[in-house]
Amino acid sequence: MKNIDLPIQSGVSPQASERFEQPRNYGPLDRFDGHAQITGPCGDTMEFWLRMNEGRIAAASFTTTGCGPARAAGSMATELAMGRSPTEAARIEQADILAALGGLPKESEHCALLASDTLKAATEDLERRKADNSPDCQQCDSATCSSKERRQDESEGQFRQRQALARRMCQIGHKILILSGKGGVGKSTIAANLATALAQAGRRVGLLDIDVHGPSIPKLMGVETGQVQGTEEELLPVKVSDNLAVMSIGFLLRSSREPVIWRGPRKHGVIRQFLADVAWGQLDYLVVDAPPGTGDEPMSIAQLVGSSAEAIIVTTPQEVAISDVRRCVTFCSEVSLPVMGILENMSGLLCPKCGERIDLFKRGGGMALAQEMGVPFLGQIPIDPQVVMAGDAGRPLLRDGPQSPAAEAFFDVVDSILAAQHDGHGLP
Ligand code: ADP
Repeated sequence: MKNIDLPIQSGVSPQASERFEQPRNYGPLDRFDGHAQITGPCGDTMEFWLRMNEGRIAAASFTTTGCGPARAAGSMATELAMGRSPTEAARIEQADILAALGGLPKESEHCALLASDTLKAATEDLERRKADNSPDCQQCDSATCSSKERRQDESEGQFRQRQALARRMCQIGHKILILSGKGGVGKSTIAANLATALAQAGRRVGLLDIDVHGPSIPKLMGVETGQVQGTEEELLPVKVSDNLAVMSIGFLLRSSREPVIWRGPRKHGVIRQFLADVAWGQLDYLVVDAPPGTGDEPMSIAQLVGSSAEAIIVTTPQEVAISDVRRCVTFCSEVSLPVMGILENMSGLLCPKCGERIDLFKRGGGMALAQEMGVPFLGQIPIDPQVVMAGDAGRPLLRDGPQSPAAEAFFDVVDSILAAQHDGHGLP
């Protein structure tokens, strides 16, 4: 884990080791949201309790059957977890605990590993309990979660599928569908960078590439060779980092060059299966790279994702792209999908030599259209050769946080999305 603020940097001095004999965070919590107990290969057992408040760990305590070093490691792990989100706490490693303690004797370093493993297990328990009691589940509409009862017009199999889909969708806080009126406007690039930036801001993010005609997310995210693991019942997404995972139709095709020629109902089935079978776990955001246009596939996605979904419509500034967007906004209103806003990509080029702006495809069309259609305008991202290079290299531009006009414009957009979602935290 990088850039962690350590509460203690001084090492285990005699005073500190006394402190770990009687740590203040020793013993079970009377109320807790997550709990785990692990016995390490050395035979010592460690037990952690976590209590949450507003998405952060507000109280953490432990016990152990081990002696001094195990107490020190357990105490430090629970201190480090305090005030962090479960995702951040799950990233606390053995090395972080050792560094915070100023080291342990070589033969006792495994105590820090046991502590970090127990902490991870407790955060997983926390997520499981949250999913089981998810209030979203009760809020779902009849198309999804009130699927407790089988409808007259559906078979047992369809009923099960609907329930499975509802269960998955209920574990996702926000769903953002990236739409565009036509191809080539940068929709996938935007989806990849948005997912990357949200994950960098500490959110748990899934990126789903449902562009059955040209799945480009695996390449853009540098996971082209990713193998999808899973069972009959569920598919495991391919991890890009601890809190960012990708699933793409591209992973399931034999060759990235194979064209996909499926009929509408089959595509609907694939999309449903994707949404229902991918084991994302608890997510703050699912970013969906949808196929361009307003045909069957965007329609399927809009219908299947259920509540808490919004659309970002990507356009370029010129007239022809703008008229496609008009259709896209109308489509969203027809399928009752709220439009988070219009995003104008490839909006002018800054001359790398003199800095002067050249409006290759005109500029401002997206903003004018947003005003005309009464939807928010999210911003303008200029043409930037670095975007192309980053995409070709399989590292989304925002991953390395470069100083470029496109990156700055992008971060502004992500910040306004986070603010609009009221999810409580801005960019770090
Ligand atoms: P879509 O998903 O809409 O078909 P892509 O995301 O695949 O579009 O982008 C099409 C091409 O445009 C890619 O080569 C991509 O690198 C490039 N591109 C996208 N946005 C920008 C930008 N702001 N500046 C420069 N090139 C861009």
